[in-house]
Amino acid sequence: MPIIDAFGPTAARDTAPGVSSTLSPAARAYGVLPMPKLEWNPEVERATAHLYERIKHVVPSVEWPFFAPYVKAINELKERRGAVILAHNYQTPEIYNCVADFVGDSLQLAREAAKTKAKLIVQCGVHFMAETAKVLNPDKVVLIPDSRAGCSLASSITGDDVCLLRERFPGVPVVTYVNTSAEVKAESDICCTSSNAVQVVESLGVDKVIFLPDEYLAKYVASQTKVKIIAWKGHCEVHERFTGDELRKYRAEDPNIQIIAHPECPPDVLAEADFTGSTAHMIGWVRDHKPCKVVMVTECSMASNVKVDFPEVEFVQPCNLCPHMKRITLPKILDSLVYMQEEVVVDPMVAEKARRAVERMIHLKS
Ligand code: SF4
Repeated sequence: MPIIDAFGPTAARDTAPGVSSTLSPAARAYGVLPMPKLEWNPEVERATAHLYERIKHVVPSVEWPFFAPYVKAINELKERRGAVILAHNYQTPEIYNCVADFVGDSLQLAREAAKTKAKLIVQCGVHFMAETAKVLNPDKVVLIPDSRAGCSLASSITGDDVCLLRERFPGVPVVTYVNTSAEVKAESDICCTSSNAVQVVESLGVDKVIFLPDEYLAKYVASQTKVKIIAWKGHCEVHERFTGDELRKYRAEDPNIQIIAHPECPPDVLAEADFTGSTAHMIGWVRDHKPCKVVMVTECSMASNVKVDFPEVEFVQPCNLCPHMKRITLPKILDSLVYMQEEVVVDPMVAEKARRAVERMIHLKS
């Protein structure tokens, strides 16, 4: 019998690597631009020297000739497209310091996404962050350079799970960490970040809340408030790897070392920390205390980014990298701007409900 049908890759590829053969609506509306030349030459060196000066303490000079042509091309294309680039604290230094317009933690990026006048947003972070930007800007185009940039917390829970919890605990409000999908936010009363979680929980004026999805952040919040917490057992795959033993070893080697930790870490880690706070609060702590030597117990790139502004501080970097954040690279950001990919789409009904929960958080007085 002859084969009656067959499926597989097409014989020839007529688009650039990484580019969908069908143009997204954004690519049809904005057009695809020619890929700029990417070579290291004296002109590129001159045009990017001020940016390298900024990151010279954290990026070896041998690496700059690879990054610089991308940095120059991205900054030119960003202007041509009228785009803004938002970058999370966990992005690598050449992205965070050399092409981003706004940097920060999830809350700061959500606020910038809400304020920006730009029609095009490129989100250098993970997918839930790009979704949040889209939820807050339904009429704008939001691109993420790699839509596979996920998050173990966001993938630990679905909108249906939230509905089941509501059935189990009728009338108990749901506070949802921003590290969740739009679908989960849509089923929630209010969002929070690690910067404002305690404030959000207490703002509701109730004695009990459902707090999703990070179990360790929930434990930390419970330790800071009298409000009773019903938690979900989601974990950040980066922060859950730290251990109290590891931190005790650092302290045994240098009793003067300072340890600052993110509240997504397990309780035995937070018990060893001199300070616990969100990424924004950790940066503020370094600025205020100017420690000689500090262990930043969070995603590894953040210490490099903070060192750019505090070169005199010695950062010990237990190198736990977030594999999702590291999917975002300069070449993919450039592809994003050239090919208008990958466009973030959120169902308008879901977006409207999710927006209420995010905006309720944004409008809380800080
Ligand atoms: S660091 Fe953790 S919480 Fe942040 S994106 Fe990665 S997996 Fe998610």
